[in-house]
Amino acid sequence: MSDNRSEAIHIVGARQNNLKHIDVDLPLNELIVVTGVSGSGKSSLVFDTLYAEGQRRYVETFSPYARQFLDRMDKPQVDRIDGIPPAIAIDQTNPVRTSRSTVGTMTELADHLKLLFARASQLYCRSCSRPVLRDNPDSIHADMQARAQQAGDPRVIIAFPLTIPDNFSEEEILSLLQSQGYTRIHSRMKSRLEVVQDRLRTSSAERARVIQALEAALRVGNGCVNVHPAAAEDSAGETVVVPPAPWKYSTALHCADCDLHYREPSQSAFSFNSPVGACGTCRGFGRVIGVDYGLVIPDESKTLGAGAVKPWQTQSFKECQDDLVKYAKKRGIPLDQPWRTLSAAQKKWVIDGEPEWVSWKESWPGVWYGVQHYFDWLESKAYKMHIRVLLSRYRAYTPCEDCEGSRLKPDALLWRIGNREDADGVMEPRMRYRQKQLAWTDAQLRVVPGLTIHDLMQLPVDRCARFFATLHLPSALLDEATQLLLGEIRTRLSYLQEVGLGYLALIASRARFPGGKCSVST
Ligand SMILES: [Zn+2]
Ligand SMILES: [Zn+2]
Repeated sequence: MSDNRSEAIHIVGARQNNLKHIDVDLPLNELIVVTGVSGSGKSSLVFDTLYAEGQRRYVETFSPYARQFLDRMDKPQVDRIDGIPPAIAIDQTNPVRTSRSTVGTMTELADHLKLLFARASQLYCRSCSRPVLRDNPDSIHADMQARAQQAGDPRVIIAFPLTIPDNFSEEEILSLLQSQGYTRIHSRMKSRLEVVQDRLRTSSAERARVIQALEAALRVGNGCVNVHPAAAEDSAGETVVVPPAPWKYSTALHCADCDLHYREPSQSAFSFNSPVGACGTCRGFGRVIGVDYGLVIPDESKTLGAGAVKPWQTQSFKECQDDLVKYAKKRGIPLDQPWRTLSAAQKKWVIDGEPEWVSWKESWPGVWYGVQHYFDWLESKAYKMHIRVLLSRYRAYTPCEDCEGSRLKPDALLWRIGNREDADGVMEPRMRYRQKQLAWTDAQLRVVPGLTIHDLMQLPVDRCARFFATLHLPSALLDEATQLLLGEIRTRLSYLQEVGLGYLALIASRARFPGGKCSVST
């Protein structure tokens, strides 16, 4: 016990669960082991009293806004606890946690990150990698001026697209437009019209007129407006070049250049614990269970004839081995060569079966089924206990191929936070998550600003803390709620650092924690 009374935690009158008014002093900065026979109250003292109070006080340090996201513990049955710092407990035996739980979910950092992403991240187009911004008349006007200046101040036509609905004829739509004062059509393609709103020169037109024209065009054009710069003219006033591409704008989450629409972000889109955000293939686990062919053909020096396919060497499935021998002879697949010397096409034949295969009913006998369809057939019988046991011997978890471990649907990973400098400061571009569905080149990925939520989850806590310490957010996004969230995230990250977990990534599974019950306090 410490001489200095302030250097210890003093518990007075603990009577949680079966504790009988216990007084105890615990020195700080020491490793303390609590032992005793089962039922003597070790957990009641350590978890239900000491940790519960530490956690309660830790939570009290947060704002009321943040507290709604945190688990609150009941006040323990105790007269007094003095000198207690905020505490964390790591209890591997907690039955509530699922295999989806990670350092990020346990510390609630995952919750804060998803809130932050829903509020303050920026969307980048999956096709062209440019930011997808919601345009408004002011931003369009500013962009028009900049582009017009670059293009030598051409005359421009402000137009909006309109699709003729199936139950209307073109004449009906044209007369409706006419009654609203729209008389000129800029272009038509099938059922899509482009209607002229106004023609002007950006440099000389009054701002109010341009804004008014844009507002009207956006209203009738359902949030879309196209600005067509006129082709340049030579000194004699003749058109010399083909008209340049229109400048496209949209008030929705819509990449006007690629004509791709995006969904509004929601918190749940950034959570792998929500059906909205979770990858559809692995349901948010990041891994899928499948046949592990390394277990099916464990010895590559064996020949097919001598039993390279392990599950077919038992009495129950000898028939399959006989089928294999019969069909291999017919198709000229060598039965007397070691598996490893077979060609890729021969191996594929053994495993995948023949391409003509449709189903057992239609194809068998006559078409070779392959190991894969044998396992599919086993799956269909998996309600039988002995089949389940057999399957479990040849199955293993493999990373989910669709989300590659990010656990999220592809669209959530188009949202990024921070600028290029923020991202470069903590994570090399080649280490950043790259969706396979993405059309971006390496060069595009390198310059796209910021990081995705999966990048942040993969970063060690130390680097994640550095990212949030210097994060640049556009001032328009920095409202009070976002500031609060950032504060919570920084506090929690520095807390993890203080307790020595700075090396862990937020996505690290709780299984990586040291085994058994252990509690850490500062
Ligand atoms: Zn695009
Ligand atoms: Zn997945």
